[in-house]
Amino acid sequence: MSKLKIKISDMDKKRFLRNIKMGTKEWAYKNANCIQGCGVCIYCYAKAMAKRRGITEDEWDNKLIVWKRINKNYLKLKPKGNAPWTYMFPTTHNIFIEEPYFSACIKLLDKLLRSGNTVLVTLKPFSKVVKKLCEQFQGYRDKMAYRFTITSADNEILQIFEPKGPSLEERLESLGFASESGFSTTVSAEPLLDLQPYNLINQVEPYLSKVDYSKDIGTIWIGLLKVKYIPKSLRKGKILEHLNRLIPTLKFEHVYSYYNELYHHPRIKWKESIIKLMIQNNVNVKELSLIIQ
Ligand code: SF4
Repeated sequence: MSKLKIKISDMDKKRFLRNIKMGTKEWAYKNANCIQGCGVCIYCYAKAMAKRRGITEDEWDNKLIVWKRINKNYLKLKPKGNAPWTYMFPTTHNIFIEEPYFSACIKLLDKLLRSGNTVLVTLKPFSKVVKKLCEQFQGYRDKMAYRFTITSADNEILQIFEPKGPSLEERLESLGFASESGFSTTVSAEPLLDLQPYNLINQVEPYLSKVDYSKDIGTIWIGLLKVKYIPKSLRKGKILEHLNRLIPTLKFEHVYSYYNELYHHPRIKWKESIIKLMIQNNVNVKELSLIIQ
């Protein structure tokens, strides 16, 4: 249990935590989105941020197409930093099959790719959406990859926390379809809604692309739930029951037990919520060598 424990000076800890990449900046150095609103999950960071900008609950639930983001010109961006992808699209991690939202998203994605950028399409993967995207963007298989959000290996938990999202089976089917269609695939298990990640890893691994670290492909990203984004008014019934099971597993001792075991797993990457927890508790992280030389 102690093999990854190291001594990190307070100064190095501070330096590391100051430089750590937050959110999706380690995936792509630019974000793109053209729909305001979503409403798939109960733990929505994007919704919390939108509320801060004055967007009401109703406005968030009734999605709005932001045409000025679709209509503007996109240039090929020069690579910046270590992120392997130019754009992550969409920031809401969801593309709706319903019109006019689907066509709006396709238009923007097409523009990003046509201008020569690489795009990491990040989705809660509904199979109809993935099949249409694969068909339409076959010609961009070297420029576009998929990161699918699969946060639990248990449909009951998915139903509680992502009530309008696809089932586990639909997500796995989408993952298999995209990989078999020749696209590079990767998974985000953030926020991890299961008490440990082993079952989820076993379920998704057979459907993933081969690992390619230079493009961050074939990887499974694991991150922790930020409970503060679940509105207090929703914390009752089954949601509260599962939260009561899940919250103790967000503590260092529990996370370390699987972090330690999976440290050398070739597919596993850790989001900043876990990296921070490890650094604060004097546990080695691979990224530390980039800061402390
Ligand atoms: S898919 Fe993303 S944007 Fe949509 S509700 Fe879930 S967390 Fe929010």
